[in-house]
Amino acid sequence: MPTALITHPSFLLHEMGPYHPECPERLMAISDRLIASGIDHYLLHHTAPAATREQIARVHGDAYLDEIDAASPEAGLHYIDPDTALNPHSLTAARHAAGAVVMAVDLVMRKECKTAFCAVRPPGHHAERKRAMGFCLFNNVAVGAAHALAAHGLERVAIVDFDVHHGNGTEDIFQGDERVLMVSTFQHPLYPYSGVDNPAPNMVNVPLAAGEGSDAFRAAVAERWLPALEAHRPQIIFISAGFDAHREDPLAGLKLTEADYAWVTQQLIAVAARHAHGRIVSTLEGGYALSALGRSAAEHVRALVEA
Ligand SMILES: [Zn+2]
Repeated sequence: MPTALITHPSFLLHEMGPYHPECPERLMAISDRLIASGIDHYLLHHTAPAATREQIARVHGDAYLDEIDAASPEAGLHYIDPDTALNPHSLTAARHAAGAVVMAVDLVMRKECKTAFCAVRPPGHHAERKRAMGFCLFNNVAVGAAHALAAHGLERVAIVDFDVHHGNGTEDIFQGDERVLMVSTFQHPLYPYSGVDNPAPNMVNVPLAAGEGSDAFRAAVAERWLPALEAHRPQIIFISAGFDAHREDPLAGLKLTEADYAWVTQQLIAVAARHAHGRIVSTLEGGYALSALGRSAAEHVRALVEA
């Protein structure tokens, strides 16, 4: 079964100012690298629908949706926090970013593909139930996980987050929900300065120190993530795929390489093969060194294609 690549033209229109690291060129860097490496040829391309209000409200509630609607400007930028802004296209992009993950869930559940990568902006894992922050408006991976539970009747899902920043939003939404296991690694201390304490048994946060790289990351995966995933037996695995723990990334200080992203993807493929009929839905989070982002995402997607 093929791997799906899901994206939408609106993702290139969401911009937060000329020097913002979370820029449209990120998606072009990924697309270019997928084409140049020959991987693109093996992907089933889909255009993301907009998530419905009901699908997004499962994790954010109606009041928050009204708040974001009201914040959408007709011109210029509306800042939600010092790092996060909406332009006139941002709300549309955010709806399609969440919709990409919903579509990915539907595709893998209908067996139209086994794995899917959502090349989306804005990212999502910092968006809390009632708060946009850290470049994120809607929590895309959480909307997808909630869809798998509510619309497909799954009982156990896992969310794996290897972005260099802690996925505080995903934790806020699912902490204490025993149907959802979240495993993560992130640099600490670093924005958003959360995640060191595991607030509930379904959260497996593994902080790493600045300067750590492949050895510490792979040990965290092998010793902390994999046993928790085996015990949870997820029926689908979501990946918050941020590539900003790469050694070339300007926003953080971990030292991962493309080979680490390929390796961790292969570990997750093995878990998915045992428990989830191979189903993996991966969605882009961070990654700000454009060349490293393209190379890392390509190795991640290559592993998904080869699964
Ligand atoms: Zn990040």
